[in-house]
Amino acid sequence: MNDTPTARILRDVFGYAAFRGPQQPIVDHVTTGGDALVLMPTGGGKSLCYQIPAIARQQAGLGVTIVVSPLIALMHDQVGALHEAGVEAAFLNSSLGGEEAAQVEKKLLRGEFTLLYAAPERLTTPRFLALLEALRERGQLALFAIDEAHCVSQWGHDFRPEYRALSVLHERFAGVPRIALTATADALTREDIVERLQLQEARQFVSSFDRPNIRYTIVEKKDGLTQLLRFIEREHEGDAGIVYCQSRKRVEEVARQLVEAGVHALPYHAGLDASVRQRHQDRFLREEGLVMVATIAFGMGIDKPDVRFVAHLDMPKNIEGYYQETGRAGRDGERADAWMVYGLQDVVNQRRMIDESPAAEEFKQVLRGKLDALLALAEATDCRRVRLLHYFGEHSEPCGNCDNCLSPPAIRDGTELARKLLSCIYRVQQANGISFGAGHLMDILRGKDTDKVRQYGHGSLSTYGIARDASESELRAVLRQLIAIGAVAVDAQAFNTLRLTEASRAVLKGEVPVRLRESVADPAPTRNRRRA
Ligand code: ADP
Ligand code: ZN
Repeated sequence: MNDTPTARILRDVFGYAAFRGPQQPIVDHVTTGGDALVLMPTGGGKSLCYQIPAIARQQAGLGVTIVVSPLIALMHDQVGALHEAGVEAAFLNSSLGGEEAAQVEKKLLRGEFTLLYAAPERLTTPRFLALLEALRERGQLALFAIDEAHCVSQWGHDFRPEYRALSVLHERFAGVPRIALTATADALTREDIVERLQLQEARQFVSSFDRPNIRYTIVEKKDGLTQLLRFIEREHEGDAGIVYCQSRKRVEEVARQLVEAGVHALPYHAGLDASVRQRHQDRFLREEGLVMVATIAFGMGIDKPDVRFVAHLDMPKNIEGYYQETGRAGRDGERADAWMVYGLQDVVNQRRMIDESPAAEEFKQVLRGKLDALLALAEATDCRRVRLLHYFGEHSEPCGNCDNCLSPPAIRDGTELARKLLSCIYRVQQANGISFGAGHLMDILRGKDTDKVRQYGHGSLSTYGIARDASESELRAVLRQLIAIGAVAVDAQAFNTLRLTEASRAVLKGEVPVRLRESVADPAPTRNRRRA
């Protein structure tokens, strides 16, 4: 076995026989004072990438490593684990009283720590920066590790303004090496991290983002809760899982209904008391087979290896969020499911949230682009994993472990129906000078005789009844596709009415094919129940 100093630390301190994946080159690079940007999926083993250099550099008399981390719970766990391994470590965050914090600072100055974890808002106070200056002057500041580095980017899914202040690290401590780590960053976020943290010179270590043991499934939302219950019953009875919902209210509702249906479930969202949240989180970590129904407030830093499924009852904002959340399944490498239901309403809701946010138009444009990429993933009829990895800049082959690979959807040409829908939007706009919502447009297309149709005289439109044979679900599928490719815009400021866009023309002219998934009512389970 390889017996370099860092390999010895890996073995003697952490008890592992070998480095995993790219850990060795990262550890070597950072130990010898290089800057690094590490992109590695959840569970990949990022912590050792800075913990081992921290120990090696401390042993070399270079002093303490400062770890920036956004989450108190995470710091707590990491420091606990380091203590068990016999490494001197501590944290500084708002959970400490003034006296305790002063103690930690004193020990820090005395050089008693190998690693100190600090919240970014703590680290960037003038008081703490003065401490760091003092250490640096004595050559006792070995390394900065910036965990969850995507928090520095407003393009990331978890922007934390406090991270912005970390620019002080390269400005005031230029000679101290830095390693930034994240489990998710598309090209835009990656660029932003590099720029904000001035890591242009840093070596980038990009691991594959593939999580081969996770099976991806995305199905059309009908009655989401019933679909979820069936999924759990068939595939994950008695398993630990996370169910993500958009709102606190829905979390409460879904948790209650799961419990009524006999599923061992608990709610988690930021509106619950801190003590309740802590209790539910502890139970999730400790008990077997608990299902956490949660908003995205839950999950970051939760290291539970045997989460067997992550379900989305509502669609996330973008692929990074989806990847991050689904990535909490199957950290132990055993089979796990990422399962999502989504429907037209999700698309409309997410659009509305962007439209109604107070952000600058330019920023909203980026958010819309990111949402569209997720829609395209949801609407895809080919391998989900290929699409997902492509988004992170990786090329891969069809995986054989996603819904589309396992049971290729029957594809139908939806171009004609799409053209009818677009013509209808156009005609109605032309006739009335205003736009209408999806429900009314579908009524016109299907030749329904409703009050609204009569009120606006839409029975006499040339597009009235031209899609009589199409079902509402087919029309909705076409509409989702059109929204996903940007050929229809949803105007959230005007009652979710539908408008044509620049991209509509190409579809109308038949230049862009619209492919529809033949609606599968209720796909058969693809594996046997795990327990009788
Ligand atoms: P990340 O922060 O990337 O999600 P962690 O650093 O928490 O991942 O590591 C995930 C798990 O893998 C942890 O339980 C860790 O102890 C384990 N691990 C990391 N590196 C190795 C290794 N070289 N050999 C064996 N286990 C490892
Ligand atoms: Zn696939």
